[in-house]
Amino acid sequence: MASVFGHSIVAYTVSKIFDSKHSRLLIFIAIVSAILPDLDVISFNFGIPYEHPLGHRGFSHSILFAFLWAFLITFIFGKYRKKMWFLIIFLSTVSHGILDAMTSGGRGVGFLIPFNNNRFFFPFREIKVSPIGIDKFFSEWGFQVILSEIKYIIIPCIIVLVILHLIRKKGK
Ligand SMILES: [Zn+2]
Repeated sequence: MASVFGHSIVAYTVSKIFDSKHSRLLIFIAIVSAILPDLDVISFNFGIPYEHPLGHRGFSHSILFAFLWAFLITFIFGKYRKKMWFLIIFLSTVSHGILDAMTSGGRGVGFLIPFNNNRFFFPFREIKVSPIGIDKFFSEWGFQVILSEIKYIIIPCIIVLVILHLIRKKGK
């Protein structure tokens, strides 16, 4: 994983880009969706190995999972703005795997599970992989993670948000 902060700000940015009404509920669920795939770490407790399709960075990090999850959430909450809900929840969920595929550690991401069990990384892997567990996060390792995320996730997101803000302000 990238850190919870890294995943959250990407979901927040995605929501701001596509939902000009800034629905708080939508932003909240988008952030939850961007963190959700890492619940798969419980698979370790069941003795499921990392490489297994249901292991860490497996099915919950796949494009199909993001699609099904977005479909479910849109069905429950979407009401009159279904396309927008679907788009934002899908992109937020899939953004999790995309960030993970740019991290420096772990195994790759199972984007194509269940059709193909290969694990993928992007050629760009500058985001330091985040430790699992709070105690390890507050360490030198955690510091390196935050530094890499500020550079490659947080600053780019803030730039996008500022540009959006300026464009929308001008449009008013
Ligand atoms: Zn992950």
